[in-house]
Amino acid sequence: MTPAPWAPLSGATHAVALEVLRRGPLSRSELARRLGLSAGSLTRLAKPLLDSGLLVESGSTGHASRAGRPTRPLDVVADAHHFIGAKVTHEDAHAVLTTLRAEVVASARADLPGRDPASVVAVLRGLAAELGAEPAPRSRHITAAGVSLGGSVADHATVTAAPFLEWKDDVPLGALLSDALGVPTAVDNDLLALTRAEHWFGAARGHDRFAVLTVGAGIGYGLVTHDRVVDSPDAGVGLLGHFPLDPLGPLCPRGHRGCATAMLSTASLCAAASVGLRRDVGY
Ligand SMILES: [Zn+2]
Repeated sequence: MTPAPWAPLSGATHAVALEVLRRGPLSRSELARRLGLSAGSLTRLAKPLLDSGLLVESGSTGHASRAGRPTRPLDVVADAHHFIGAKVTHEDAHAVLTTLRAEVVASARADLPGRDPASVVAVLRGLAAELGAEPAPRSRHITAAGVSLGGSVADHATVTAAPFLEWKDDVPLGALLSDALGVPTAVDNDLLALTRAEHWFGAARGHDRFAVLTVGAGIGYGLVTHDRVVDSPDAGVGLLGHFPLDPLGPLCPRGHRGCATAMLSTASLCAAASVGLRRDVGY
């Protein structure tokens, strides 16, 4: 079976595929209602998606329609496409091979020999080759890749700030990786990427407004409202990290009293516990 074409999906066809991807299996009547389509329009839009193997009439038994034909819910063929997803930190890169529904099929990790763009691209190319070569019951042609990192990214392509990698100038990482991997590659801020994943496939699946809070070395958040990720040029700047929480709290390294970093970050929690216990404690 030839996988469905990926890029040409647009407009209403894209909306049908996306709705089934996120919420399927869905009955045709429910799908038409959700997208505001007539039954005839839905049939017309779904046919090429079914013909190409991206969508399938799932096997669960449905109710017979008035015409006597059984109606079966539509679902995606999750392994019709595979993707590489990767996260770059200041010292290593983690990569996974996933299905259309972001189910992890295989994973790999490698240290970064250097933090310059060429080293990062070379490590990601090696990880992608390793994952793409995994033995598979069926062909695992990789359709596209996505890479996230802490920092600011313009147009899902150009890293405009990545302090932990010490990149001074804008880096066209999306184009560099698209060339190196041979597939379209999107780049995103790591918190936005996490928020998108939770929105479509994670704990927030089915919710149209929620926030993701991350507590660790730093404090971060992602926001979804009206079913859309709030994606602004400020993402990655870390606006929440120094949000004031307690005017009587401890100081953060920048001198803010009681900011989110001073109250919640790993280092602050360890410091507060060490003072209280009068001995050094780790997280
Ligand atoms: Zn602060």
